[in-house]
Amino acid sequence: MGILKGIRYFETLIPPDKIASFSFVTGDMMRKLLTLGAIAAAASFGAHAQDFPAGKPITIVVPFAAGGPTDRVARDLAEALRKPLDGVSVVVDNAAGAGATIGIAKVARAKPDGYTLLVTHVAMATTPVLYRKLSYNVETDFEYLGMINDVPMTIIGKPTLEANNFKELRDWIGKNAGKVNLGNAGIGSASHLCGLLFQSELKAEMTTVPYKGTAPAIADLIGGQIDLLCDQTTNTTSQIEGKKVKPYAVTTLKRLSTPALKDIPTLDESGLKGFQVTIWHGLYAPRGTPAPVLQRLNDALKVALKDPDFIKKQEGLGAVVVSDRRVEPAEHKRFVASEIAKWSPVLKAAGVYAD
Ligand code: ASP
Repeated sequence: MGILKGIRYFETLIPPDKIASFSFVTGDMMRKLLTLGAIAAAASFGAHAQDFPAGKPITIVVPFAAGGPTDRVARDLAEALRKPLDGVSVVVDNAAGAGATIGIAKVARAKPDGYTLLVTHVAMATTPVLYRKLSYNVETDFEYLGMINDVPMTIIGKPTLEANNFKELRDWIGKNAGKVNLGNAGIGSASHLCGLLFQSELKAEMTTVPYKGTAPAIADLIGGQIDLLCDQTTNTTSQIEGKKVKPYAVTTLKRLSTPALKDIPTLDESGLKGFQVTIWHGLYAPRGTPAPVLQRLNDALKVALKDPDFIKKQEGLGAVVVSDRRVEPAEHKRFVASEIAKWSPVLKAAGVYAD
């Protein structure tokens, strides 16, 4: 492939004015009182953390538009998390725009109490490379809870596109140089990365059209406002089944087994040797979320990822739900760091920046 290829709890629980009111006691007494206060505060916070989720709803922020692939996995996961989290409601908040950076930043700034979480994808690894000024740091502003799934992508076209297979699509792109419109979900999105690789491999330049997610992009594709899109199967499968879009290729090295997708050739077999893009999703909490809450959330994630209904829904849309090691927070953090290391040179060499 070518180039494109705690103690803070104490501070918050004992406000400074209360600490000042201890000023009449001796230094030694002060130290003891402060220590006792810290122990009591930590114990009371611990008790709250143990009670989590205490019947309160949990919000999962999705940094892309409703109806798209990230939204799909988050909504399926929200449903699967309910049972292991004592039946509390888990709701999705779409904070879309600017290639996922708006939603990711929202969670970085949220209260670290476990009631605001983030589901996002490879943008966790690409936005630190593509945006030189970000209000968050993916390494230090988040608690990693674990990975969720791997999702292949598909190259799809508007229904009126005259090409009926990948070879015809290639010819059509060649004949329409400079006129082809390719949608994406913003710089750093999965569709953007796939589109970059696709153009590089075809040695074709297309006009990219950014949206707040691939749900609005696919609506415009169906309406014929854009020509092409590379998007996760979790969004494209039902459109392919309903013949609303034209499928040209999948981005895995092997054909997929999902019934609606099994006859679609791979890009690799269609001549773009080695072309492979799969998109992972992960679950995160703001930094400083108490350890017992993180443990509870990770336990719930592990149960949710084994939920037969969740697995069935995801597999029906071409996704592979992950298990074992990959659902461990430390392993997921290592993985995201390796993804940053993988995309950095590629994107820097391509000279693509969002700002
Ligand atoms: N599929 C989108 C992407 O290209 C994101 C989304 O809408 O979920 O990154």
